[in-house]
Amino acid sequence: MKAPRFAYARPASVAEALALLDRHKDDARVLAGGQSLVPMLNFRVAAPKVLVDINRIAALSGVKVTKSHARIGALTRHVELERSPEIAKHLPLVAAAMPHIAHPAIRNRGTFGGSCALADPAAELPACALALEATFVVAGKKGERRVAARDFFKGLYATALKPGELLVAAEFPLPRPGDRSAFGELARRHGDYAMVGVAAHGSAKGLRAAFFGVGDRPEIIEADTVGGVLSKVETLAPRSDLHASAETRLHLAKVLAGRVLKNLA
Ligand SMILES: Cc1cc2nc3c(=O)[nH]c(=O)nc-3n(C[C@H](O)[C@H](O)[C@H](O)COP(=O)(O)OP(=O)(O)OC[C@H]3O[C@@H](n4cnc5c(N)ncnc54)[C@H](O)[C@@H]3O)c2cc1C
Repeated sequence: MKAPRFAYARPASVAEALALLDRHKDDARVLAGGQSLVPMLNFRVAAPKVLVDINRIAALSGVKVTKSHARIGALTRHVELERSPEIAKHLPLVAAAMPHIAHPAIRNRGTFGGSCALADPAAELPACALALEATFVVAGKKGERRVAARDFFKGLYATALKPGELLVAAEFPLPRPGDRSAFGELARRHGDYAMVGVAAHGSAKGLRAAFFGVGDRPEIIEADTVGGVLSKVETLAPRSDLHASAETRLHLAKVLAGRVLKNLA
């Protein structure tokens, strides 16, 4: 099936994009990599009247590292993160997650911001943002606001983004010397969305493990020790779906957490 008819706009700047989003409000959708939105249009799951294509806005792309954080622009493609020496050096958790996201053709177009704005509960990048305590930078007609990752993901495909707002970037605090991270997921086939996944980060403050594929959004478990995290996995409440029962997912979450956290110890 083909997408329903829509008007198309290709702004050259964030200001132009925001003006379009403000003018069309709920009738508009941002088009980034299109890897999720275009299938949604074709399946008629979404039928926006206007697509605001942000692909020409250079200011939204790329990775910048400062003394305190690594900033990932919303339009940065998955493949750029996968190949970035800066991401490998400063955010090894994100680097470890990238090869698990879909297939190379999708990673060539899909974007960091698209993945976080979509908020698929089985996606890798939202979990990494939670584990690393990233902050999302959101722009609207009244200016920019910052939203902590733990407040950004609101539920199934739901985020703190309001109509008329654009996700601009995320800022990840740079890990300190001695911090460790580990990532793992279980999927039926490599490149499929995870049945269960864990993105974990350990620092002097303790351990943070973000589980994905186990609920309507990524779930954080924090504790001082690996044993402490493992003892709380039982509190996750996955649902049954076509791919696995709730019991199977919980069992897989326990097994995977044991394997992944062993790498942090
Ligand atoms: C076969 C297949 C397998 C996949 N497997 C995985 C996987 O294993 N793991 C995974 O994480 N993803 C997976 N994906 C999804 C892929 O990572 C997408 O690229 C991603 O989810 C969406 O990014 P995008 O840039 O394509 O966004 P789009 O499809 O362009 O947009 C997605 C949504 O986000 C909104 N949006 C996009 N950018 C912004 C912005 N800057 N501000 C506000 N709203 C915005 C759009 O309006 C739309 O609602 C898969 C996709 C396919 C087709």
